[in-house]
Amino acid sequence: MQQLTKTITMPGRKRIALVAHDHKKGDLLEWARFNRAVLVEHELYATGTTGALLQERLGLSVTRLQSGPLGGDQQIGARIAEGEIDFVIFFWDPLEPQPHDPDVKALLRIAVVWNIPVACNRATADFMISSSLMHHPYDRMLPDYDQYRQRLTSGI
Ligand code: PGA
Repeated sequence: MQQLTKTITMPGRKRIALVAHDHKKGDLLEWARFNRAVLVEHELYATGTTGALLQERLGLSVTRLQSGPLGGDQQIGARIAEGEIDFVIFFWDPLEPQPHDPDVKALLRIAVVWNIPVACNRATADFMISSSLMHHPYDRMLPDYDQYRQRLTSGI
């Protein structure tokens, strides 16, 4: 079946969510310090502790959500589904189990559902933030989920 697509336009000023697990917070702070001049042009969101560090250490203006293990990752996922987050920098720790591993997986999944760019390490974050697309509107292509919604109701 041919899948139709839709586009959602991401604004030039991106709504960026930043999250770092404990052993990755140093990495994220270094990265954010280096890229501070670009980050201040966008609207920033972060999980609780990550956000506090970005505010206190770098003086960035950040909307702080709950800490990750208390639901912060789920809040970011919900905002993606509502069309309120365009871009995710998520330095998760591949060497440490987390109490909220299901939330981490859910966030990564919902980002793919909505075709949201996600950087899970510094190299990817470097490539993403240095893209010229950071400064311009961008049409995110999505499958037309109306077909999926209709399939659910027509099959019952
Ligand atoms: P934190 O949450 O920024 O509150 O530490 C991050 C996470 O563990 O997902």
